Amino acid sequence: MTASAPRYMARFRCIAEACEDTCCAGLTVPISESRWSLLRQKVAGTPDEANVAALIKPNPDGATGQQAGILGKRADGHCAFLDEAKLCSLQRRYGEAVLPDGCSVFPRVLTRWGAQVEMAGSLACPETARLCLLAEDALVREPVPEEQALRPQVARQVAAGDDAWTAHADTVREAMLRLLQRREVPFAARLYALGRMALDLGDFYFPGTTAFASAAGEESRHPSASDASEPEVRGPMTDSAPDASETRAEAAEARLARVLREYESTDTLASLSAQLEALELPGGPWAGICGAVLRSREAAVSSPRFLSLMSAVRASYGGADTHPDQAWELHAARRSALESLHGERVHQYFLHHALNHFLRHPFTEAESLLNAVFLLVLRASVVRWVLLGHPAVVALLEAPGTPEAALDDAAVEAFQVVAKHVEQAPSFLDFAKGLAGEGPETFARLLILVKGL
Ligand code: SF4
Repeated sequence: MTASAPRYMARFRCIAEACEDTCCAGLTVPISESRWSLLRQKVAGTPDEANVAALIKPNPDGATGQQAGILGKRADGHCAFLDEAKLCSLQRRYGEAVLPDGCSVFPRVLTRWGAQVEMAGSLACPETARLCLLAEDALVREPVPEEQALRPQVARQVAAGDDAWTAHADTVREAMLRLLQRREVPFAARLYALGRMALDLGDFYFPGTTAFASAAGEESRHPSASDASEPEVRGPMTDSAPDASETRAEAAEARLARVLREYESTDTLASLSAQLEALELPGGPWAGICGAVLRSREAAVSSPRFLSLMSAVRASYGGADTHPDQAWELHAARRSALESLHGERVHQYFLHHALNHFLRHPFTEAESLLNAVFLLVLRASVVRWVLLGHPAVVALLEAPGTPEAALDDAAVEAFQVVAKHVEQAPSFLDFAKGLAGEGPETFARLLILVKGL
């Protein structure tokens, strides 16, 4: 087995008591049947036997297997097994093998692309967020020793390659990662181009596509496909019909390659960037979406760290009753001021977040490529709203001589709390799905979000 990881994950070490958060704070931690059983064996006859019996309970949802048990929490929301040094008392006494998978692996996120195990990081850990956002070379991918990719057996298999959607996933993802790094156009224009590319691929490259099947005459099953046997590329790109001598599979593969190549073109990117620039959309709806996401999470999350930042962010935009148009005006003014002071630094945060997004969240798990892009843009929008509402950023704009380190600290906090308490929440994912809608409306709504960025 080989493993690879972006450089920041090879550098990662848990900072334990120096951490400004704790991974298990405010989260529900499940344990699998097999780990639970191993833990019971290890603690048998020790003073921890009674603790384990009392503090780990069967999952109230009735789940078995991977989610069979739930670890108890202290009144402050931390895991009941956390010691005074913010270290896991079970790991200290009985070793890593007894830990639930989530505790052992976090903040590593393991996925298996064919035979290759990839390790990315969850920005829900402040140390991971710091390493990922702040180092210029953080996202350079390279091989890592196998032992660093703990428990590769829990890696999600995201690209088995036994269907066209996953067989071409690596090629598509690499094209997306390259596009995100095209610095000659603004970051928002790159996201817009990603959306257009996803739209152009969307009627023949999707989960369950049969457009790449070699059997002649097969029809695509995609609900939005108007004619999957000769799917039409929409948008500014043109595409020629497949040569009659090509098999259906070859034609689809050639078409995929043509679309990806088109988005490598400098002219295409310049044209899309100009289109986006010329598009006039009000920012109020974008501000309204960001505010609504955060309000709904505030109602569900008990973490004091999250709640106090959200309260400060809301106050900085004028309070709960401010109209989204007014909040947007404040945001836009701050954005432009921050751009002139620390534009490159802020660009790095969002670029690294986006690159990490596609390493950490395999797009093959989305309903479509466009939905995967939509989710990234929504997540980036919410973080940008929080960052520009962060009291330290507001203060920095009022005192432009403030060292960049203050901005870095605010960014780490903003990205981390959003990653921990918003990005993965089922209610947020449901909201994103509803907001995205279906088919062409997804792209129209993506535009609103991209313009806000
Ligand atoms: S959040 Fe990260 S740095 Fe903090 S205790 Fe957990 S793994 Fe360690």
